[in-house]
Amino acid sequence: MLDQLPELIDPVVFAERTSHLVGAVKLHRMSRLSDFLFEKEGDLKVDLHFYKEGKVPTIEGHIEGHLNLICQSCLKSLPWEVHKQVKIGMVQTIEQADRLEAGLEPLVITEERMSFPSMVEDEVIISLPDYPRHAEPCMEYTNVKFVEPEEIEETSDNPFSVLAKLKNTGAQ
Ligand SMILES: [Zn+2]
Repeated sequence: MLDQLPELIDPVVFAERTSHLVGAVKLHRMSRLSDFLFEKEGDLKVDLHFYKEGKVPTIEGHIEGHLNLICQSCLKSLPWEVHKQVKIGMVQTIEQADRLEAGLEPLVITEERMSFPSMVEDEVIISLPDYPRHAEPCMEYTNVKFVEPEEIEETSDNPFSVLAKLKNTGAQ
């Protein structure tokens, strides 16, 4: 079993030292991701390199794992495989973010240390569909009763039924 990775990291220092983080992050450490999950047990496998590309501290690697999402149609479990490629350029300002080379996702670093599980869950959440649901129709309608128009009782004072009778008589 892989080691649980730390809560707080200093990603810029990691990049300056050229570091490699491999391990697991438990799903219950990621509260925002948990909102999407039917099953909150388990973890995500993380394999990330921190290095400098020119002057830009960069994080590159992947996040893998098996999730059970909540199907938004039937609210039951929806098995989902995570294969998220990560390539992040760390910046301090929005202007720097605009100047990043294509293919680098900007991450604005405002404090030295940041929550590592929070960074991982951000990466996974953006890879999830907006509206996760089973590929095949899964919604059950058994508890919904439709009232057919034919079942509505006709009453003698319904002006339309009177008109219908007149029309029938006139045609003969
Ligand atoms: Zn479903």
